[in-house]
Amino acid sequence: MTIGIDLNHSSNEYVAQQDLENVFHSWSVQGSLNPLVIKSGLGSKLWDFEGKEYLDFSSQLVNTNIGHQHPKVIAAIKAQADELITIAPATANLTRSLAAKKILELVSDHFKKIFFTNAGADANENAIRMARLFTGRDKVLSTYRSYHGNTGAAIVATGDARRQPNEYSRGHAHFFGPYLYRSEFHAENEAQESTRALQHLRRVIESEGASGIAAILLEGIPGTAGVLVPPAGYMQGVRALCDEFGIILIMDEVMSGFGRTGKWFAFEHHGITPDLITFAKGVNSGYVPVGGVIISEKICQHFHDKMFPGGLTYSGHPLAMASIVATIDTMREEGIIENAAQIGAEAIAPGLEALAQKHACIGNVRGVGVFWAMELVSDAAAKTPFTAAAMGEVKKALLAAGLLPFIADNRIHVVPPCNVSADDVQKALAIYDKVLSEVASQYV
Ligand code: PLP
Repeated sequence: MTIGIDLNHSSNEYVAQQDLENVFHSWSVQGSLNPLVIKSGLGSKLWDFEGKEYLDFSSQLVNTNIGHQHPKVIAAIKAQADELITIAPATANLTRSLAAKKILELVSDHFKKIFFTNAGADANENAIRMARLFTGRDKVLSTYRSYHGNTGAAIVATGDARRQPNEYSRGHAHFFGPYLYRSEFHAENEAQESTRALQHLRRVIESEGASGIAAILLEGIPGTAGVLVPPAGYMQGVRALCDEFGIILIMDEVMSGFGRTGKWFAFEHHGITPDLITFAKGVNSGYVPVGGVIISEKICQHFHDKMFPGGLTYSGHPLAMASIVATIDTMREEGIIENAAQIGAEAIAPGLEALAQKHACIGNVRGVGVFWAMELVSDAAAKTPFTAAAMGEVKKALLAAGLLPFIADNRIHVVPPCNVSADDVQKALAIYDKVLSEVASQYV
């Protein structure tokens, strides 16, 4: 090893102790950390220093769409490192152009260019900035049940004029999106949920002042909020409202894009075309931090003779660009998107539905492709969510049984890599079954 640590002679205890001593963790109470120790990975599997194997059914933060350590992507990153490891964003660089071209080939010719960012959050920040500058309006609408990233203060704290297009006073409002299982609209079926959610959105637009609304920002499928697959007609309805009121539709495909739903992008399931698309995570499985915005022709045209005030030192980093090119090529060559669609329909959907029939604690199962959630409830009729303590026990039991889960609130999100094998799906279903029987059932 050249970094001064002998990984082969470390132990779980040593690595955990070093981590606790030196690393300030994100989204955590620092005094109650118990980090999982991982030494290595391959495909859908991870191992610790004692050789314990985990099925990674979290895809980390739902980003390793091509699994861990894909050799073709790692080779591309190494080759780029040897050639040119860093170069400023303003420089013309062939790997960067190629990465942009490969992404543009995935969408219709309504889209013309790619703006690269470092992650999903700054992709959304820049898409919002584009929509505000394009429309000359301030307000942005998004749903209560959503996650769009964890930045915002940095540019507002900035003292010079670059902060001005971004100050929070420019306005934001929220609305309820469709979620039939816990309907805000007292709907009894998907068609009602869709119609009533659209009526509600129209009322919010009118109440907030249509002429001041720059953008509606929506996840392709709200992910961390619960894999809330939109009902038929809803996305088309949102598109129609945006057209009616001159509002830019930004689809946040950071989690739902690049194969997760069995298509390149989740909005493709609805036959609509957004104005801006944000991406990160699956674009290169997070092998190097990167994100970006896919920009429609009309918005590109707007900035033809106007400066766009966005960008960071590492935007369009060559290592990230090489990993994007290799990821998209690999997904095509290995039929990874098709695998996600097929395994979702033929193995995950029937497997989770069978679990829901068997276990009273599963209140609802929903999803598509390799993007699923099971809601755990202690009282099915009242839909009472499992407590955080109960979910903690479920998580502990899944880890002990060799499955790394993605847990959010009262839900187990079933989100393996898009190229997960049928065998690994069956193993995971057996682990969920065992833990639901032995642990979760105690909380019903
Ligand atoms: N948008 C969505 C839909 C996400 O799920 C996430 C992260 O989970 C983000 C944006 C933020 O991405 P990042 O953490 O890369 O900034």
